[in-house]
Amino acid sequence: MESPIAEQEICVKCGLCCDGTIFSGVALEKSEKDNLPPEFAKAYDHNSEKERFLQPCPAFDQKCTIYHKKRAKVCGSFRCQLLIDFSKNKLTRQEADEIVKNAIIFKTRILDLNNEIAEKTEDLPFWKLSEEIKKKLKQIVNDKPLRDKYESILANLTIFNALLIKHFKSSRKFQDLMR
Ligand code: SF4
Ligand code: SF4
Repeated sequence: MESPIAEQEICVKCGLCCDGTIFSGVALEKSEKDNLPPEFAKAYDHNSEKERFLQPCPAFDQKCTIYHKKRAKVCGSFRCQLLIDFSKNKLTRQEADEIVKNAIIFKTRILDLNNEIAEKTEDLPFWKLSEEIKKKLKQIVNDKPLRDKYESILANLTIFNALLIKHFKSSRKFQDLMR
């Protein structure tokens, strides 16, 4: 399914459902794996009983690079709550753009904070960040200032997740498909 132009324009500035921010992976239907481009092979989730590939999606490069080609079925039908609200005129275009912009700023701030503390760019999918920080916190016992910094990121992640739930995630049916 192709979305209306205005929705595509919102998505092009967003990508949060493809880059590992909202979802950890994308569920596939039976045998769908065989029809996806070869670059997906490295992203298949071998630890899951269900067929799925992990995010960030290998076809995501600022936007979906295979939009008009063969994608997973769920990719063609997924619309987050923000798009649904926009299509029902519950949000203006300006409001939708603003929500996306603020979500990306917030996410970038969290990643920057984490890189600053780690003193390097950590190549972690966003969905793994909170799990990894919790692991680090178990190892850091005596360094209170460092613990405080990681705890502050966790607090920010909680607020960010609430923002995602409010604006992007409320469409349960699709959450089930993508998890
Ligand atoms: S999260 Fe919503 S607005 Fe963002 S790219 Fe996905 S469908 Fe589009
Ligand atoms: S194939 Fe395209 S729409 Fe589907 S997850 Fe990847 S980048 Fe997103």
